[in-house]
Amino acid sequence: MTIGIWILGDQLWAGQAALKSCVEQKAQTPVILIESLQYVQQRPYHKQKLVLVWSAMRHFAKELEQDGWSVGYYELAQDFEAPLREWVTEYQITELRVMEPSDRPFANLLRSLDLPCQITLIPNNRFLWQTSDFDQWAKNRKRLVMEDFYREGRRRFEILMEGDRPIGGTWNFDKENRQPPKGNLHTPPPLWFEPDEITQTVIQQVEQLTVPTYGHAKPFRWGTTREQALQVLDHFIQTRLPNFGPYQDAMVTDEETMWHALLSPYLNTGLLHPAELVSAAEKAFHENNLSLNSVEGFIRQVCGWREYMHALYRHVSDDYFAKNWFNHTHTLPEFFWDAAKTDMNCLQQTLKQVEQIGYAHHIQRLMILSNFCLISGLSPQAVEDWFHSAFIDAYDWVMQTNVIGMGLFADGGMLASKPYAASANYINKMSDYCGKCVYNPKARVGENACPYNFFYWNFLDRHHEKLKSQGRMSFILANLNKMPAAELEEIRQQARQWHEKS
Ligand SMILES: Cc1cc2nc3c(=O)[nH]c(=O)nc-3n(C[C@H](O)[C@H](O)[C@H](O)COP(=O)(O)OP(=O)(O)OC[C@H]3O[C@@H](n4cnc5c(N)ncnc54)[C@H](O)[C@@H]3O)c2cc1C
Ligand code: SF4
Repeated sequence: MTIGIWILGDQLWAGQAALKSCVEQKAQTPVILIESLQYVQQRPYHKQKLVLVWSAMRHFAKELEQDGWSVGYYELAQDFEAPLREWVTEYQITELRVMEPSDRPFANLLRSLDLPCQITLIPNNRFLWQTSDFDQWAKNRKRLVMEDFYREGRRRFEILMEGDRPIGGTWNFDKENRQPPKGNLHTPPPLWFEPDEITQTVIQQVEQLTVPTYGHAKPFRWGTTREQALQVLDHFIQTRLPNFGPYQDAMVTDEETMWHALLSPYLNTGLLHPAELVSAAEKAFHENNLSLNSVEGFIRQVCGWREYMHALYRHVSDDYFAKNWFNHTHTLPEFFWDAAKTDMNCLQQTLKQVEQIGYAHHIQRLMILSNFCLISGLSPQAVEDWFHSAFIDAYDWVMQTNVIGMGLFADGGMLASKPYAASANYINKMSDYCGKCVYNPKARVGENACPYNFFYWNFLDRHHEKLKSQGRMSFILANLNKMPAAELEEIRQQARQWHEKS
């Protein structure tokens, strides 16, 4: 019997479960990595995502070889199946081991392969929580609240705990972490890299692809190896974590990253493990005396939100992905594919940045992009597909719950306790975008009224009945009820006309 291992593009870690299962016999265990052109035709992926994944795969294959594995690598193959068949036959492989894919569509693809060997799935070890442990935790709970899950994670993995109590006596410092940007904020520059020879070759190949893609391949500054990913983690801990907390929700023109970690591309390709982030942050807290609101705020993202989004994705039934609680059906305006086509400054700034580097930080994703999609009534599935195309860290497992659940409330409140819907008021408070915009953030109707305003009130008006059932919406619905009928009618008209023109 010969075992072979297929490593997927988001499993690039020597400790991953399939490799681990054969580490004692590595010299006799062939390993394969495949780039599939057919796979990348599903949607117009961001060029930087293709460069990152393929370059990281090529680097990882070399590292495995240096470590004594026998590695087969297929560059720009037409699909997965033909190279797999060829390799399975050449090495007379009887059992193909694959670490369980995180994405459901990929698991389906795996099931559909016609190969002359048995396929064995090895349980995925890229997350802190095992799916079965989450299912056990979720059993008999009326609502799967992130805060409860997060606290359980802190206890279970003994993170920032003193016995059975959270360090500092409280679990949550969110209130201290929502400061608007003030004066000249001096954000630390992120750690970027010059592309090496391998990456430069991939950039050229991606630029020559004939399949539809999105964004720019150059300048490409992301790391593509585990060593570089570890450097980014270390740089974050040293220079960004100390002030990560207070301005987590702030947005500033030409500040692509603020104090955010820029670690999701490395975590999601497998170059880093979430446990490494959590222990590095906890160590820095104890050794460098960092403020608890920053360290807890970061740990909440990794051990709370990221794990929760993944566990929920695994937990929900297949119909979750088609959910559309508000019955929103508008298609995406063209400017989502070309930032220059919108004159809304907040959207233009954010979309321009996404075109360039495939990255926007959480509040730009939530309160600029998906907020606009929600209040203007765009189809959740079209929005999910766009996010999946546009972001360097996008994968089905992280995209579905973040977009369908958190961003668009299309699951009717399974994940969020109220829709993340906001008018220009929020954007004006938390960013400097409005000061440089042709629209007036204070105006709800009229020629230069901000579209976030008339869409916001139109959203509340259209879904008044549904939103009434969400307790946390009652205050704002009371304000809607007080709005003069003539103004409400103007809002409805302006929202309708905007869609007719776009
Ligand atoms: C509409 C929408 C779409 C999103 N799409 C993606 C996506 O495609 N890929 C992705 O990894 N994240 C996604 N997120 C979550 C989050 O915005 C990104 O993980 C984060 O912005 C990545 O940047 P960072 O590494 O600088 O994060 P930081 O803000 O520094 O946070 C640290 C880490 O926490 C994790 N994290 C925080 N929040 C989440 C979350 N809600 N879900 C999953 N992980 C989280 C990430 O791994 C991140 O690297 C999305 C959020 C929204 C609202
Ligand atoms: S005025 Fe409106 S469109 Fe312009 S930046 Fe502010 S929120 Fe965005």
